Amino acid sequence: MDDKTYNPFITAQKQFDHAAELLELDQGTRDFLRYPMREYQFSIPVRMDDGTVKVFRGFRVLHNDARGPGKGGIRFHPQETADTVRALSMWMTWKCAVVDIPLGGAKGGIICDPHNLSLLEQEHLCRGWVRQLAKTIGPLSDIPAPDVMTNSQHMLWMLDEYETIRGAKYPGFITGKPVEMGGSLGRKEATGYGVMITVREAMKELGINIQDTTASFQGFGNVSQHAIELYQQMGGTPTCVSSWNQEEQTAYSFRKKDGFNPKELLSVTDHFGEIDKKKVQDLGFEVLPGDAWLEQEVDLLVPAALENQITGDSANKISKKTKIIAEGANGPTTLDADKIIKEKEILVIPDFLANAGGVTCSYFEQVQSNANYYWAKEEALGKLDLKMTNAFVDVSKFAKTNKLFMRDAAYMISVDRVAKACKARGWV
Ligand code: NAD
Repeated sequence: MDDKTYNPFITAQKQFDHAAELLELDQGTRDFLRYPMREYQFSIPVRMDDGTVKVFRGFRVLHNDARGPGKGGIRFHPQETADTVRALSMWMTWKCAVVDIPLGGAKGGIICDPHNLSLLEQEHLCRGWVRQLAKTIGPLSDIPAPDVMTNSQHMLWMLDEYETIRGAKYPGFITGKPVEMGGSLGRKEATGYGVMITVREAMKELGINIQDTTASFQGFGNVSQHAIELYQQMGGTPTCVSSWNQEEQTAYSFRKKDGFNPKELLSVTDHFGEIDKKKVQDLGFEVLPGDAWLEQEVDLLVPAALENQITGDSANKISKKTKIIAEGANGPTTLDADKIIKEKEILVIPDFLANAGGVTCSYFEQVQSNANYYWAKEEALGKLDLKMTNAFVDVSKFAKTNKLFMRDAAYMISVDRVAKACKARGWV
């Protein structure tokens, strides 16, 4: 499904162009928002465990900070490209704006595969990334966070390097820290739970009883695991999930038609979110091809792996039963696929709305870190629920009033907020 020629930045720009057209934005604002404001690309030399030096490529892109400091994760991935980071930074701008938090959009990455790196090598890589950027990122300018294949330990190494360089404590420099080291309770769950809060609201609007529904998920990492957990708590039945098989370099889907327990599945999953293909069969799962998760006869589909996963070809295979697609991943759906999904009249909860729970709780973490006062988990998750519900209701109302696709409605609200902030500052 993964087309090597696919360029997520072109998709992000086309989505933006469409919103700019709908909003009738002036040319100066369009030109400004189509590209990131700042970009850094650099080399990170790392002394490997065998004594050799390996040089990695690092990125940090700040798309827009008119509404507040840049915010966005750092991804470790062997196929990372400058354009992927640009696209993700742009989507972060719209994401922060749609949930109305005072942050801009940024993203970072390193081309690497942590599967093949020792913990010490990963620590060197994290510290090297911060050394290249210490003058430009910070709690008041640009705040990193975890993303694909990075976790709280990576964030802590990065924080430690930053504080060592700066000679003081800056817990608000980075989010996604371990809870005992300044992280926020609820951050781990926030993205997946946020996805399901929007699904809950969508089902309410469509008059669907969540307890009568089934769902299929792509990916079984941070986002998907917690989305499945809350979905099941709310009474839904998850029946299928896919994950990447590192050894075979391909994906598989795993199905239990009567529903599965995510806790049981976790017992055969590694910390990269890879489900063990052999052990999972002992738990009664069928093993299916990687794309099968999308073709299931379910009410809800949740792509929660990577971008470019629902394409013009595969969208045709979505079952007639499917009523909602909640995009847990960033950019999982191509422009061609969007057209087909519109024709099928499936409600799409667009990525930068559906998965905004992560950055919302990251914002809460930053608030707590800067104040050096930490909230109970219920408080963080309660505030998350309120933010996500309000954002969903606003977008849905706007879509209905103006007869728009949810993605267009979300784009119009976000782009308008950012464009107004740029104008108010006198930038455009
Ligand atoms: P993760 O690294 O924890 O998990 C990724 C999962 O996807 C793993 O289970 C992996 O096996 C699976 N996967 C990878 N390629 C696949 C493929 N081709 N087919 C099937 N499965 C595949 O990542 P995550 O943090 O859960 O992030 C997932 C997506 O959500 C990404 O697009 C990320 O940018 C986005 N996102 C994450 C957060 C967050 O807080 N973690 C916030 C917002 C958006």
